[in-house]
Amino acid sequence: MTQVKTTLKKPKEILTEIKKLLNPEGPKPLVIFDLDSTLFDVSPRLEKVLIDISMTNDFIQRFPEVNSYFRNIKTLRNDWGFIKVLKRAGVDHDHYELFDYLRHAWAIRFFSNEYIHHDVPYDGASLFVNRIHKLGIPIVYLTGRDVQRMELGSKEVLQKWDFPLNDKNATLVLKPQKEMDDAQFKCDWIKSLNLKEYSKIYLFENEPVNINLIKKELPEVEMVFFDSTHSGKEPPPSEINTLIHYLLDDES
Ligand SMILES: [Mg+2]
Repeated sequence: MTQVKTTLKKPKEILTEIKKLLNPEGPKPLVIFDLDSTLFDVSPRLEKVLIDISMTNDFIQRFPEVNSYFRNIKTLRNDWGFIKVLKRAGVDHDHYELFDYLRHAWAIRFFSNEYIHHDVPYDGASLFVNRIHKLGIPIVYLTGRDVQRMELGSKEVLQKWDFPLNDKNATLVLKPQKEMDDAQFKCDWIKSLNLKEYSKIYLFENEPVNINLIKKELPEVEMVFFDSTHSGKEPPPSEINTLIHYLLDDES
């Protein structure tokens, strides 16, 4: 977990804050959720991708010397990318040819409609989102996944885990082009809203790069940092509201 000064909150406290914004006369809040590493633990997807690559004939023929290490692969919740995972499994991290091959093979599978079916929601995530949705508060899933490679699977996986979707109060927004920068795309999308329509906008997000840009450009957005894993490129802002799960019954 990230070692910065964050304000750890209980999911129930955040839900109560959001509920307080409900006013039958006035505008409603809008609650935006990122998907990867915010609502969904992607480490099972990462594990499946690496194991499947290692079982292809092409991989076995090219890298027979490392194949046995791939049997040791076990991803953890805070894994980011595959380098640490492979090091832990005993693979020599200076093997340039291997890592170059994996980068390509990993991206094809990891960013695909097929493999996102291995994602698993964090504890309590589906119920938490449903509780907000049932209050009549609009929900948006705003993701750096792109339409072409991941729209269909994203919808299927949200529905498989009973997240609200496909009504006017629960929508999925993906990048129209994969090349777009995640942080800029998310920031621009929020800017494109008529902000006056909402009493407050909440954004649940795990990636500090996204949080920091949106905080700078749109300071009125209320951020909730989901402390799972992130790229490590930037630290999250200090004293940001932080969650580590979504369990509403946890009184600890
Ligand atoms: Mg994310």
